[in-house]
Amino acid sequence: MKEKSKIAIAPSAPSMTLKKDKEYDPFIEATLQFERAAAFLDIEPWIYQRLKHPEKELTVHIAITRDSGRVESFTGYRVQHSTVRGPAKGGIRYSPDASLSECKALAAWMTWKTAVCDLPFGGSKGAIICDALKMSENELEKLTKEYTYAIKDIIGPYKDIPAPDMFTNSQTMAWIADAYSRANGHFEPSVVTGKPITLWGSQGRAGATGSGLFFVLDEAAKHLNFPLVNKKVAILGFGNVGTSIAKLVHKAGCKIIAVTDIFGGIYNENGIDPFDLHQHVLTTGSVKHFSDTESIDNDNLIALPIDILIPAAMEGQIHSGNASTINARIVLEGANGPTTMEADEILEHNGTLVVPDILANAGGVTVSYLEWVQDLQRYFLSEDEILERTSVKMKKSFWEIIDIVNKHKVCMRAAAYILAVNRVAESMRQLGRIGRN
Ligand code: NAD
Repeated sequence: MKEKSKIAIAPSAPSMTLKKDKEYDPFIEATLQFERAAAFLDIEPWIYQRLKHPEKELTVHIAITRDSGRVESFTGYRVQHSTVRGPAKGGIRYSPDASLSECKALAAWMTWKTAVCDLPFGGSKGAIICDALKMSENELEKLTKEYTYAIKDIIGPYKDIPAPDMFTNSQTMAWIADAYSRANGHFEPSVVTGKPITLWGSQGRAGATGSGLFFVLDEAAKHLNFPLVNKKVAILGFGNVGTSIAKLVHKAGCKIIAVTDIFGGIYNENGIDPFDLHQHVLTTGSVKHFSDTESIDNDNLIALPIDILIPAAMEGQIHSGNASTINARIVLEGANGPTTMEADEILEHNGTLVVPDILANAGGVTVSYLEWVQDLQRYFLSEDEILERTSVKMKKSFWEIIDIVNKHKVCMRAAAYILAVNRVAESMRQLGRIGRN
């Protein structure tokens, strides 16, 4: 299986680090973004306070026996930021750098993302602090199932529905579905999305985030009168999101001139074929040493003379130390939270259009929504139907955001937050308050 080999084949040690803004804290970033929209909308204090903090934060400690026979303990989290508009929805990532603050930020971003696309969900996120690249498949299965058992009481098809994120994939979701189903005594595939097709995953889910990125890039190009043909593109991160958007922009006539991953980066002024590069990554585990390329690091990639920059690795990649070196006309946020607020201001000042994460990478959760609906009904759609429905939803959200940009003279990120926070706040008003103190 291709996705398994992504985890199983790991070349030596990761070498790419990203310098972040000093004391960068993703949850503070997420809170500042929310506060800007809340102030603009002048929302009531009770709504403000309830949306400023997550509804629920669960920390779990689990232990597994490693292949060596040693017993090791791991810390995991599941944070539910909001369930106001429906069950919480959000991915699970495996990362040595995972933290509660990161999960809180990612959970809040999920609330705003599902609201931007008007999906009947709230927002959540989970993580396990571990280095998946250094774990065997056997260890990953044990870890995933123990974690599922530890969080089983707060997840479920009508409570909180996990999905893949960094260093998790459809196999991870199948293990979660199995552990959850066994714990509950019946088969329940709708507890997770991003599953293999054979276990009632959705057509189009594997490349959904990339497809969604492309739908909004296409609209952004129309908005700016900026045809995509021959535009130069650089991509940070070549995992699920980076690979799928790379293939789509290549097909649209763009030239990908640089790509990095956690192990290193590659550059070729004449263009890199993402289909061949993907094969190279499946074989070697990294973009490094791809034929006819020179090596490049993240900061040099960011500063290249390009038209479109696609951060698709992790949060905080674009910060006050490198934002002013960006020449791109469009920054298309494949990753969650890749741009700090300080960097945002620099980019806005320099006239770069930042297509914000809560819209740009919402294709994944939009197809996840369709997967959940299909699973609940046990009735399945074709890939064309899935992509068509996703495209309609995302394009609608794009132009709703542009209307707010034009009306209030704010950047796209501020407009997306205004749209999202307003939707959630309005739902809260209609639901009413529980306590009236
Ligand atoms: P992934 O694990 O499949 O890929 C991550 C990629 O980033 C890998 O190529 C990895 O080597 C690279 N990377 C990690 N650290 C790096 C570094 N320091 N420098 C350069 N490259 C680095 O993960 P993914 O699912 O593609 O997710 C990537 C981002 O997109 C994350 O921010 C995630 O939250 C976000 N996202 C993912 C989805 C989805 O459907 N998978 C949906 C929405 C948002």
